[in-house]
Amino acid sequence: MFVSKALSINSKNHLEIGGCDCVDLVNNYGTPVYVLDESLIRENCRLYKNAMDKYYDGNGMVLYASKALSTMAVCKIVEQEGLGLDVVSGGELYTAMKAGVPMDRIYFHGNNKTCEELELAISNNIRRIVVDNREELKRVNDIASKQGKVVNISFRIKPGIDAHTHDFVQTGQIDSKFGVALENGEAIEIIGEAAKMKNVKVAGVHCHIGSQIFDLEPFKLAAKVMLEFIAKIKNEIGLEIEELNLGGGFGIKYTMNDDPIEYDHYIESVSKVVRSVCEEKGIKLPFIVMEPGRSIVASAGITLYKVGAVKDIKDVRTYVSVDGGMTDNPRYALYQSRYDALIANRADAPKVQDVTIAGKCCESGDLLAKDIKMPEIQAGDILAVLATGAYNYSMSSNYNRIPKPPIVLVKNGKSRVIVKREDFDDIIRNDIIPEDL
Ligand SMILES: *Cc1c(COP(=O)(O)O)cnc(C)c1O
Repeated sequence: MFVSKALSINSKNHLEIGGCDCVDLVNNYGTPVYVLDESLIRENCRLYKNAMDKYYDGNGMVLYASKALSTMAVCKIVEQEGLGLDVVSGGELYTAMKAGVPMDRIYFHGNNKTCEELELAISNNIRRIVVDNREELKRVNDIASKQGKVVNISFRIKPGIDAHTHDFVQTGQIDSKFGVALENGEAIEIIGEAAKMKNVKVAGVHCHIGSQIFDLEPFKLAAKVMLEFIAKIKNEIGLEIEELNLGGGFGIKYTMNDDPIEYDHYIESVSKVVRSVCEEKGIKLPFIVMEPGRSIVASAGITLYKVGAVKDIKDVRTYVSVDGGMTDNPRYALYQSRYDALIANRADAPKVQDVTIAGKCCESGDLLAKDIKMPEIQAGDILAVLATGAYNYSMSSNYNRIPKPPIVLVKNGKSRVIVKREDFDDIIRNDIIPEDL
């Protein structure tokens, strides 16, 4: 009955997550508050890890794409489950390092890593730098040379697959800020150059075809295209690529209308393609890496708000305003994303009306959901927005100088804070009034 199995209704008719009553959580921690179910995060990690071990005979690795939700505690949980980590900035790298994630499990992505970020990564012996472009290749080789090191790199490749259309043809996707293209020869050329450099070793190739994908076919096609490219590298450059990183992008259930593929089924199907193409092309089975982000944490999270005003504009729309909004969840404002929501203090109340849930920012586009079915709502009710574990806190801002909510981790009826609530002093922390003002 819910989009996530982390949720249930207790005998008081309150929403429960990780054995904690949401009304109690709000009484203890205030609103808005992000709540994360630890057990479900761990379960999602295991699901991926077990499937990878099973279908690639242990010859693979799962990385959590930490941009979905990067905090030290989340990094630690994922590390404890045996996953590696994918980071896309110095800040995410620093968070992972401070959480104790071993450097030999970290991959560094991004289309414009700065010299400082690369120096931090290389001086700490990161497992892999996923090189995006020619400029960056030179930069990595120079920094490695100065440090007297050989850095293991892979390349971000544009396989030319658009996963968001139905005939995911191999065109168009060349117009992307990420990576080097296959179709115009850019990719093979840059790998040829890298093969001659002294301070980098080409260890792998990588692709990431999109996000919130429900279809199996684009993933299978991407694996095939990438393996054919590995065969081409072997034939034309004489270089054996040991690792294939297939990225992330697996869809999750935001509303009851979403129907994601089972991750285990995805990994099994792709592994069949991988094995058959390797055999056909006469190349050895590479080490396989995948990078789920959203599907590890999204369903484990909810956000609890307090309802302020209910504005019923006759024959137009009913606006329900809450004490958060685009500052803690910008996804509706950015992509018109859909969410499911309910009233946590009357969790089984029948959904009888269409309402629009608005945030408190001075911005008409500051909505959390438009025209969704909800029960009767009064000021003071606790509104729960579901499946907010990914790309909410990590995309949050202080617009309108609104402090960021805390993150509370729940498990077996226990709750603890993993990110503190910001206060007004946090808001002005970096402000300076110059003495001559
Ligand atoms: C964003 C991203 C991911 C994770 O994507 P999800 O849709 O969250 O699974 C993985 N790899 C790379 C390179 C990414 O940019």
